[in-house]
Amino acid sequence: MKLSKFPLFKTGVKKNTNLNLKSQVTASKNDCSLFSRLYIATSANRPNDLGEFFSHENQEYPPSISVMGKLRTSDSKSDLTKYLSNLSEECTADSVPIVQAKILDGAVIEHMLKPGTSVTFGDYISNIFLNYVRKESATVNRLDLVFDRYLENSLKNGTRQKRGEGSRIRVTLSTKVPKGWENFLRHADNKTALFELLAESISNSNIPGKTFFATLEDSVVSSPFGADSSSMAPCNHEEADTRLFVHLADAVAHGCEKVTIRTCDTGVLVIAVSCIQQLPQLQELWVHFGMGKHSKFLAAHEIAIVLGPEKSESLLGFHAFTGCDTVSYFKGIGKLTAVNAWLKYPGATDGFKALQDGTVVQAMGNLEVFVVSTYTRTASCETVNECRRVLFTKSDRQLKSIPPTRNALEQHAKRASIQSQVWRQSLERKQNFPDSADFGWKICEEGWEPVWRTIPVASEACEALIKCSCRKGCVPARCKCLKNGLKCCELCKCTCRLCTP
Ligand SMILES: [Zn+2]
Ligand SMILES: [Zn+2]
Repeated sequence: MKLSKFPLFKTGVKKNTNLNLKSQVTASKNDCSLFSRLYIATSANRPNDLGEFFSHENQEYPPSISVMGKLRTSDSKSDLTKYLSNLSEECTADSVPIVQAKILDGAVIEHMLKPGTSVTFGDYISNIFLNYVRKESATVNRLDLVFDRYLENSLKNGTRQKRGEGSRIRVTLSTKVPKGWENFLRHADNKTALFELLAESISNSNIPGKTFFATLEDSVVSSPFGADSSSMAPCNHEEADTRLFVHLADAVAHGCEKVTIRTCDTGVLVIAVSCIQQLPQLQELWVHFGMGKHSKFLAAHEIAIVLGPEKSESLLGFHAFTGCDTVSYFKGIGKLTAVNAWLKYPGATDGFKALQDGTVVQAMGNLEVFVVSTYTRTASCETVNECRRVLFTKSDRQLKSIPPTRNALEQHAKRASIQSQVWRQSLERKQNFPDSADFGWKICEEGWEPVWRTIPVASEACEALIKCSCRKGCVPARCKCLKNGLKCCELCKCTCRLCTP
């Protein structure tokens, strides 16, 4: 199954949880010795092609987008939410928009509704969960509850997805609610079991005049029983983030013109803004964002108008490329810096669109210019490799604070492409996308791992750094230097120093 090949799972993708200080020190030592060797080589009149040098990464993992082999993470996602929400008028909790349907992300509901004094899960459901559902549905005709799925064999080929931390407990109506709700929710199996109980209870709720839908694995249960769910199930989405929109499409097809989606995820807001053009009958799409007192209603339909059709549509490519759960952030480049660079360089829109279409090669030219403009406002480079050279030599930047090489950037763009392709199919009941192995990922023992580069690092690739290990005199058949038409230098093991090609 294609779907299972995508490392979408937050738990499936190896994250930068433990920064390995030791390996960071090793990496910077390697950098130092690389530059020392380069100095020695050039003092021996070796050819010295700095352009070539800066087109290769110095380290095994590009420090601009990776932390020792893991995706580089950031918390600047909320800056994008803020930026988008400032584009429109927002409602606060006092002025709730009037809609016909509400679609809720199940995970938000579970985290928000704490068990309080409930003794058993049965108590929790009847006293807390169903009360909430009754309250939420008082002003609407339809309410949908959408859950994440945790597929058992989602990462095949010998990889095992961690089922999460925390301890696994049996979850039935008569089970006592454990102490430590967040800890209980940390285990995927616990969540799945609770999802099932909630879905069943909502399908048995039978409130006159109201229609309820809840996802249960790949299917949908409803109240009243047997309500038409043919356009929502079976569904192959793994994450609620995208599956919410399958339910949105169905609600719109059944005549809802104003809908609210409840979430805590910037990704959902981004998808909402980008998909509106595909749902012309939908007049208002509200994203009820966040929990508690600070939750807000954001008008996705207004944001889409202010951004305009082109930018709204390519917002998915933008969000993926500038960093999300499955794509690295660029070191020091937050979402706001990225938005400002986009506003100044409209050509980036075509790049983001090409990513969403899966045509990465066509996207690269525009994306390079965009990346350069996020790193520098003064240097006028067209390519990232040139920009690396200029920023390193003229601006005294650290290696991790210059852009990745063109080669590493292309792998990054591929990961952004597959993620935005998945988001783009949010309205489809069955998502269909290419193999991640063709889009910047490779499978290894512990799961999916990013492909960081497809060409050698500088120390292996640069002619200036070639050295031989001939101890008994250099002969053309064996000597690496002679083979490459180079004079030996101090870096060589040989003692002749006189060998000439
Ligand atoms: Zn030699
Ligand atoms: Zn040599």
